[in-house]
Amino acid sequence: MANRVAYRTCPLCEATCGLRLEVEDGRVLRIRGDEEDPFSKGFICPKGSSLGALHEDPDRVRRPLVRRDRVHVEVSWDEAFDEVERRLTPLLDAHGRDAVAVYFGNPNAHNFGSSLAIRPLAKALGTKNVYSASTVDQMPKHVSCGLVFGHPLTIPVPDIDRTDLLLLLGANPLESNGSLATAPDWPGRLAAIRARGGRVVVVDPRRTRTAERADLHVRIRPGTDAALLAGIARALFDEGLAGAGALAPLVNGVREVREAVSGFTPERVSPFTGVPAETISDLARELASAPTAVVYGRIGTHTTAYGTLAAWLVDVLNAITGNLDMPGGAMFPHAAHEQPRRPRRAFRTGRWQSRVRGLPEVLGELPVSTLADEIETAGDGQVRALLTVAGNPALTTPDAGRLDRLLEGLELMVSVDPYLNATTRHADVILPPPSVLEKPHYDLAFTALSVRDVAHYSPPVFEREPGSPSEFEILVRLTAIAGGLGAGADPAALATASLAGRVEEAIADPSSPLHGRDAGEILSELGERPVEERLLDLMLRTGHRGDGFGADPEGLSLAALERVPHGVDFGPLAPRLPDALSTPSGLVELAPRALVADLGRLERALDGTAAGGMVLIGRRQLRTANSWTQNVPVLVRGKDACVVQLHPDDAARLGLADGALATVRSAAGTVVVPVEVTDVVMRGIVCIPYGWGHGLPGARQAVAAAHAGVNVNVLTDASATDPLSGTAVLNGIPVTVTAA
Ligand code: SF4
Repeated sequence: MANRVAYRTCPLCEATCGLRLEVEDGRVLRIRGDEEDPFSKGFICPKGSSLGALHEDPDRVRRPLVRRDRVHVEVSWDEAFDEVERRLTPLLDAHGRDAVAVYFGNPNAHNFGSSLAIRPLAKALGTKNVYSASTVDQMPKHVSCGLVFGHPLTIPVPDIDRTDLLLLLGANPLESNGSLATAPDWPGRLAAIRARGGRVVVVDPRRTRTAERADLHVRIRPGTDAALLAGIARALFDEGLAGAGALAPLVNGVREVREAVSGFTPERVSPFTGVPAETISDLARELASAPTAVVYGRIGTHTTAYGTLAAWLVDVLNAITGNLDMPGGAMFPHAAHEQPRRPRRAFRTGRWQSRVRGLPEVLGELPVSTLADEIETAGDGQVRALLTVAGNPALTTPDAGRLDRLLEGLELMVSVDPYLNATTRHADVILPPPSVLEKPHYDLAFTALSVRDVAHYSPPVFEREPGSPSEFEILVRLTAIAGGLGAGADPAALATASLAGRVEEAIADPSSPLHGRDAGEILSELGERPVEERLLDLMLRTGHRGDGFGADPEGLSLAALERVPHGVDFGPLAPRLPDALSTPSGLVELAPRALVADLGRLERALDGTAAGGMVLIGRRQLRTANSWTQNVPVLVRGKDACVVQLHPDDAARLGLADGALATVRSAAGTVVVPVEVTDVVMRGIVCIPYGWGHGLPGARQAVAAAHAGVNVNVLTDASATDPLSGTAVLNGIPVTVTAA
């Protein structure tokens, strides 16, 4: 095949950059940022240019594997599905549905085919043991937004392109490229704030690359962000600076918030957080006086004992400074495919609890921090089998060493995954999905978190290998097995039946533009594409920009998106309240009872004695996407990336020099890791990046094994959690450090 150029959205992180690929004969010659992409405008990071290497990776699993006598051997697709049925069905019959757990990894959020198929799969399994990467670090935001705005996916994002003041906490977008706030080129966008006379303030225990580019870096003790935010709120009320502005008629509970934060004077909060009281008051005044301002918090604030409180107080500050739903403040994206979020019922968590520790269900999931308990503890409902889809929990979840040991003892493990890695080495059956360049792409999740109103669709760059199913088809076949239809059921017929069901639902829904229409006519208009693309088309055409199947000939459809390979930019975000709210009152509920009550727990902690000693925090790195890009040579070359950062005073006290090996111990485990002596961390902080710890026996990732690093999650403790979300505490874990 001659040289050609293909355009696609990068699926590796939340920034959703447009890429321009030059390809020839099934190979990628070169990848550049797509300068004509209206959102990313040519921005690319080192990971984006590695998609060709991921596609061509000789270690990528291309055919199904079944483990026989502890060795993974290639089998046909039919044999692999037969093996799943042969072993799963009797297990379900003997032990019930909860005996099978599922774990959905982060890449599912970047893949509309699997996004559309994993929930039906979990439903067909009928298990309460549903886990995902969201429960590692994201559930606090879902819980707080569910309680405050009525829906856990109604998440405001910082309008960074128009703000005059950005206050970031526990976020390092120069490494992560942003999370729960989709914006290609964070470096450029942050620089633009300062270039137009605005300010960027970063609160972080570490002087991150983001902090280095800020106007002000405020050091904070790990895990205390919620107290700082409450202190800022108290200062705003005290100084008469609080007010919801034009939004006031839509906000319930400002008085209750005022009462709830009354115990958080800056002077009282200061010793707990390590932030001077004067700085807390100054931050309050800055937020109140800036023409527009926005507070944004991410992983460092969520993975703490007060994660849901921190997530909530971010939105409290945005609301009481008049910056919620305002240009330059915190705004609600409106994805083109978004369907109406009705009826208005009170958002609830804890509709069931985990069997062993009683942790709450959120969004139909249990915290993965308790998966090991559910495997290890005998009794009715004990987990005996695990299905993972694009997940590597043996590396990326708290107390991973324990989970890794327990996976080997499962009666059955099935993994949909392109690699034989730390987790899937335990799998009895591995079902490999197509490569990142063999799938079509539309961002179902991240257009709903985007700082501009955009839409992109990319067709596959390469065709799949002959006979290889799409990820959607793999998951549909697993759904058929889980639902008792057997491995021989026709996946195309099942998927088409499910599409017809979705169309019937829309036709019956009075709020849908399809209400009362003819199902046959709609199905015929959806054409003959793969079913996952027809489902996407259905969502786009019934979304708020959709063509409504003829109602608006200028409206959006998948075909219309295909005609714009660089994507469409519909403009900056527009105010959406009250329409975006789905609380029973139809208002912003700023003081939900559960959150106000939990603030008492934080207030009681304020006056406790801080434990002495060193504490562990995690670290994000630009060249890694959690655990799965470390097999790309260009992303791991250069000096050792997996090192523990120690302050020079701590290193001197411990007798550790740069490059020396240190033993880091926590209650959960021990790692031995090279030292980097640097003052980017505060005294008392021990900082290790995550996503490392490769090269385990049975894994097949040669490059990653040669750059193995250590797994920080051997040290993290799954038993300490944020009670409202069940999210494990990953920051501020007590550790000891000695020379190895
Ligand atoms: S910033 Fe994210 S989306 Fe953009 S190229 Fe890098 S990995 Fe891909």
